[in-house]
Amino acid sequence: MAIMLASSAPAFGVMRSERISRNVCLTTGGGRFVDVPGFPGERIDRRLLNDLRYLKRKYNIFLTDGYSTDPVHAANGEHPIGLAADIVPNGSVGGTWRDISRLARRFEPVQDQPIAPFRWVGYNGDSGHGRGDHLHLSWDHSATPAGRPARSVYTLRCPGKRRPSGDSDSTGTGTDPGTGDTDPVNRDDGSSGGVSPTGDGGSTGGISAGRLAAPVLRRALAPVVETGGVGLR
Ligand SMILES: [Zn+2]
Repeated sequence: MAIMLASSAPAFGVMRSERISRNVCLTTGGGRFVDVPGFPGERIDRRLLNDLRYLKRKYNIFLTDGYSTDPVHAANGEHPIGLAADIVPNGSVGGTWRDISRLARRFEPVQDQPIAPFRWVGYNGDSGHGRGDHLHLSWDHSATPAGRPARSVYTLRCPGKRRPSGDSDSTGTGTDPGTGDTDPVNRDDGSSGGVSPTGDGGSTGGISAGRLAAPVLRRALAPVVETGGVGLR
């Protein structure tokens, strides 16, 4: 079963996305750290790009840090795996802390009870975070070591639908995960030998369709928090 995957899967794999609810999309495979358009010097898992674009438009965010192995961030948090964002207002487009507070409140209406797809929200009440400093967002995901994209990630918007002008996909990755009809053969991310209904994907643990809500809820009970970050200095 693993043999056919060797030639078909590129290093970063093929994405397969599944919309769970209006504001939660589960994507497996396709993780890769990329430059963030509009925020020079910042990198992040490319599966978050649509979310960042949405947040930029709706909440006037400015990204001060994404993928980072800087020790200022929690080692077991999401910056070292490209699934976290440190955010301040984007003053150049009229953004204010009011926008950022609105964003924080929407996804953490009650302290330490983040709303999916977020695993942890760092803002008022969290050391090193808050209005006037920065907002931290961690997207929920399957387990992965620092420096390696997670196999699965939850996002607000499904990735891969970023071509409003109808241009062809210049990255050459091909598959549009938004349609949900990806060739079932090409579902591997190159790290665990394919999707198994028993979830025996080694360190990733796998996520089967029947247990989608469980990882989100379970992780929220024992959150990894961080006390640093990159905000206004
Ligand atoms: Zn952070």
